[in-house]
Amino acid sequence: MNEALDRITIVTGDITRPRKDQQWAVDAIVNAANESLRGGGGVDGAIHRAAGPRLLAHNAKLGGCRTGLAKITPAFDLEARGIHHIIHTVGPIWHADDDEIDAKLGDVREDVLLASCYTRSLELAAEHDCQCVAFPAISTGVYGFPKQRAAQIAVSHVLGFLATHDRPQRVVFCCFDEADAGIYCEVIETRDQWMLNRKRLG
Ligand code: ADP
Repeated sequence: MNEALDRITIVTGDITRPRKDQQWAVDAIVNAANESLRGGGGVDGAIHRAAGPRLLAHNAKLGGCRTGLAKITPAFDLEARGIHHIIHTVGPIWHADDDEIDAKLGDVREDVLLASCYTRSLELAAEHDCQCVAFPAISTGVYGFPKQRAAQIAVSHVLGFLATHDRPQRVVFCCFDEADAGIYCEVIETRDQWMLNRKRLG
């Protein structure tokens, strides 16, 4: 069917502990960081704990990272788990607003910034010849981005990138729980069905 679609996988678990039973190894993971790049809670905290204090020392020299952009670092202690790179990207904070117009403009801006996180991270992965990159659900934790909307952006921008690039060969959406994985599956199934219908029509 769709070749790009065959190159993505949804898993449930801790992104710092890629499963060993997969045929392909995750060699880069994406961190949902904050602009300081000095660690925080959620997946950022888990990655800093697993990578060890050298990551913080390294990031302290990077001068931070703006929302929607990404920076790549070594994986430090995560090398022991086969991970060579950490790609730190800063997702947008979701701002719900009472004013309808402001809220809509805010939504669009946040959509664009989230899409940019995926694209910029994949560009870095391709530049560094990463084979397989795992993404958490960027911005959907404390940053409050609606989960389904975020999954739609993630899937469509990752598929768009894979359709025009050989690297990375694979992308893993690493969901923290089954409910989040269900959202990704639904988004992909709906898209898949849409593509099938389009093929039939075309
Ligand atoms: P953000 O600040 O971008 O919202 P969070 O870390 O709060 O980042 O949450 C982003 C997503 O990462 C959430 O879906 C959360 O459940 C998930 N998450 C938290 N810890 C981990 C982990 N160790 N592995 C994978 N996903 C995680």
